Amino acid sequence: MRIGIDLGGTKIEGAVMAPDGSIAAKRRIATPRDDYDATIAAVVSLVRGLEEEAGQRCTVGVGIPGTISRATRLVKNANSTWLNGRALDRDLERALGRGVRLANDANCFALSEAIDGAGRDARVVFGVILGTGTGGGIVFGGRLHDGPNGVAGEWGHNALPWPDASERPGPSCYCGKRGCVETFLSGPGLERDAADGGSRVSAAEIVTRAAEGDAAAESALVRYEGRLAKALASVINVLDPDVIVLGGGLSNVERLYASVPRLWGAWVFSDRVDTPLRQALHGDSSGVRGAARLF
Ligand SMILES: [Zn+2]
Repeated sequence: MRIGIDLGGTKIEGAVMAPDGSIAAKRRIATPRDDYDATIAAVVSLVRGLEEEAGQRCTVGVGIPGTISRATRLVKNANSTWLNGRALDRDLERALGRGVRLANDANCFALSEAIDGAGRDARVVFGVILGTGTGGGIVFGGRLHDGPNGVAGEWGHNALPWPDASERPGPSCYCGKRGCVETFLSGPGLERDAADGGSRVSAAEIVTRAAEGDAAAESALVRYEGRLAKALASVINVLDPDVIVLGGGLSNVERLYASVPRLWGAWVFSDRVDTPLRQALHGDSSGVRGAARLF
């Protein structure tokens, strides 16, 4: 059987996947923030516990924030910054006594949805996470595409395309640039935009208030939809995937699946746009499912 681990900034989830794709066991623990050695130990204890439940030794795939650099073989681009510059794959292999496969968490999400989720049957899948950040992953014919720099699909740190005056230069991003897609389309990005300098409420609360007719919340969501349409249109113009699958907390906002395809035609270089925009089938489980499928 296969174990998938989703190593997040606040929690580490693990699951045992049976050969038929069903989940045989699941566990979750808090991430030891800012402590690399404790993070390794936490993953090891999670794997040991899951193997005890499964009653056998399993393969281990791990979804991580960031990616392993091909050049240095060290973690880069992780917003869980205590992982950056570390040989996480080799340290986990040593601690677990076996080969371990690592991939970016958004890539794991895209792989899971491409194989047996909302993108099954599609040849090219673009998977998008709209959560604490905005990750992305590309799957061709059931195989992850990472690229020589390991950044394929990382649309979140491109500039928001076709910005209007109010969107320029845009908020500062942790990556050092301004106006990144992530600063507008992550959950915190929506919250900051809706607060407009006032008191902040959660993204979920903004969606609830908009549904109840709150004008400020509604206009924040309308801005969000327009920006998501522009950002995905630029992806369609480059990749033209057969399907786009949304995951992460904001993928639960149902109106996006009608409003965004209605808006993105203005920006896609085509007389019509037939790209389906779908919600992830496996929800929060896609991270561990895709990590398990790295083997
Ligand atoms: Zn950025």
